[in-house]
Amino acid sequence: MKICEKCGNLMLPVRKEEGLYYICRVCKQEKKAEKDNFILKEVVHKEKPRIIKTDENSEMLPKLKKKCENCGNGEAYWWSQQTRSSDEPETRFYRCTKCKKTWREYS
Ligand SMILES: [Zn+2]
Ligand SMILES: [Zn+2]
Repeated sequence: MKICEKCGNLMLPVRKEEGLYYICRVCKQEKKAEKDNFILKEVVHKEKPRIIKTDENSEMLPKLKKKCENCGNGEAYWWSQQTRSSDEPETRFYRCTKCKKTWREYS
């Protein structure tokens, strides 16, 4: 929370291109936030990798024709996981429907 130095009213955090600002609702006074804590937290939260508990819900995953090198079975579940930076290619995971062996493949 920030209080306006000019009029003593509550300032609201506003996201601008240059960073986080506090703007007074009454006199429109602007003040740049020293620390961008508010936004930082939000970004970190968004980039949190999706954790897929495959042991519990692998039956809900889509299947495709893929040969398992472990047992020779021709069908596998698959899912993909985006790595932290979006310019890297996503990683595909496969899991044999028969022996449950899991492996990954870079697309
Ligand atoms: Zn003010
Ligand atoms: Zn297999």
